[in-house]
Amino acid sequence: MSVRIAPSIVSADFGDLEAAVRAVERGGADLLHVDVMDGRYVPPITIGPLIVETLRRLTALPLDVHLMVVQPERHVEAFVRAGATSIAFHPETTDHPHRLLAHIRSLGAQAGLALNPGTPPEACAWVAETVDFAMVMSVNPGYSGQAFMASVLPKIARVRALAAGRPIWIGIDGGISATTAAAAAAAGADTLVAATAIFGAPEGVEAAVRRLRAAAGA
Ligand code: ZN
Repeated sequence: MSVRIAPSIVSADFGDLEAAVRAVERGGADLLHVDVMDGRYVPPITIGPLIVETLRRLTALPLDVHLMVVQPERHVEAFVRAGATSIAFHPETTDHPHRLLAHIRSLGAQAGLALNPGTPPEACAWVAETVDFAMVMSVNPGYSGQAFMASVLPKIARVRALAAGRPIWIGIDGGISATTAAAAAAAGADTLVAATAIFGAPEGVEAAVRRLRAAAGA
């Protein structure tokens, strides 16, 4: 199975965002991952629709928005309007995950659930018919540069089974590097999110994207 590489733009140099986008494009990145943190669900505050709008102007790559915010229902419309092509939220951040998934889809974007290491795969079970993808977290959300938790890998196959044949995609997010990419891909992840391993790579961003793909064996 081919694997998609999703650089997390939050670790890019915001002094020259365009250069960062061009570098991941040259490296062959498949989509851009945007980590949105609100200072409440997770301690840091990162970026909002304004940056998504900027990215939309800079690139034709799909923009995958990962909402680490409370009450994500208040924000999805602004992100889709800004150019998000897919949006994931954490099911415990809203009273009505099923309704929110359906709402995101009605806006024309793909809808996904982000599952913390402590969130069981069954979170996907009752919303299986409205979910387009799942983002399996291999660290606790909030900071890039954390150590990869291999213990979450079996969850990928469980989520796939719960989709009961529906063609969902499954990303893995947290601690992905050239060292951990192969295990993640072997466990069934089809999309690898990486922040530090790409934007902090000594060999440069473009080479890091290629290296990650090679490491994943796809
Ligand atoms: Zn993320």
